Amino acid sequence: MFNFFANPSYQGSTLERLINVSPAQTIQFSEESSETFARALRKEYPRPLDHLAQVTNQKITLEDKLQDIANEVLALGSATQALMLIVSASGMARYYGSQIDQLKMTNSGAAFALASALAEYVHACNVPATNCEGGYRQHLSAYLILRDSMESFGFLGPWEQRIAAFETEQKKTDPKFAAPKLDTKAMTVLRSFVPRSEQPVLSQVLQQLNTVKNTVGWLNLMPGVLDTVYLQMVLSMPQLFMTGQWSESPIALYANGKCTFCGGPAPCQPCENRLIEIALESRSGKGGIGASHVGPAATKAAQLLINAGVDPYRHR
Ligand SMILES: [Zn+2]
Repeated sequence: MFNFFANPSYQGSTLERLINVSPAQTIQFSEESSETFARALRKEYPRPLDHLAQVTNQKITLEDKLQDIANEVLALGSATQALMLIVSASGMARYYGSQIDQLKMTNSGAAFALASALAEYVHACNVPATNCEGGYRQHLSAYLILRDSMESFGFLGPWEQRIAAFETEQKKTDPKFAAPKLDTKAMTVLRSFVPRSEQPVLSQVLQQLNTVKNTVGWLNLMPGVLDTVYLQMVLSMPQLFMTGQWSESPIALYANGKCTFCGGPAPCQPCENRLIEIALESRSGKGGIGASHVGPAATKAAQLLINAGVDPYRHR
């Protein structure tokens, strides 16, 4: 197995680097961005009110003229809320990442689940701020991934506290200010406005994270195994745990002459060797504990190598 990896740490890991350089960190809240977001939303769902009514099984009885106004208000209101949450998520991703090293001491299964969710989040964020239509493309999905997984892991508390503190601060200058909500109702609205092309990817990622959550419970019965193998893998090679097939961001071993894993120059022998080791795990037939995690990661490792022109099985 991967016993040449010692002492997994979030600090200094690839996952930390990817979160810190994520395009999500450059998105800022502005009226202009909100308008861009709202326009993109209405291009996808020209009548957001009808769309929402349909998704939530509600009946809407408004005069046509009032409906036009309501559509405009709903689109811009949702855009404003979503953009604030997207910006908030980029800060929370750094916060949650910083909790991994402490969490692994008491619950390595939870640390692994948290790291997996952050890997999916940062992967979804991989669209430059300049062409994400105010955050509507993928960054909205990324926010929903982080929010949904943190809720299902029971980690939403710190985020809610931050938003409450932000609201208190803003109310000092603007008493009417209302912070965006993290609750299920607000999430349902935003989820329904995710671009159609992203809906199946989002569902698949959320389902995958739920599977991780359900398997770490029993994996944690053997914390040593998780510590040395899975946690280290997801921290050092988070790309292997990114399941979403987002249109804008295919995963490759090398990009722009650099290794996407360690950031060093391409070709990168140490990362190639690690990937070969991981790819071969799936063929060793060992299976057993945690095979459900290693299986997809091993397949992805092999695919990345093959795409980069390296045959992972030639060393057997
Ligand atoms: Zn490398």
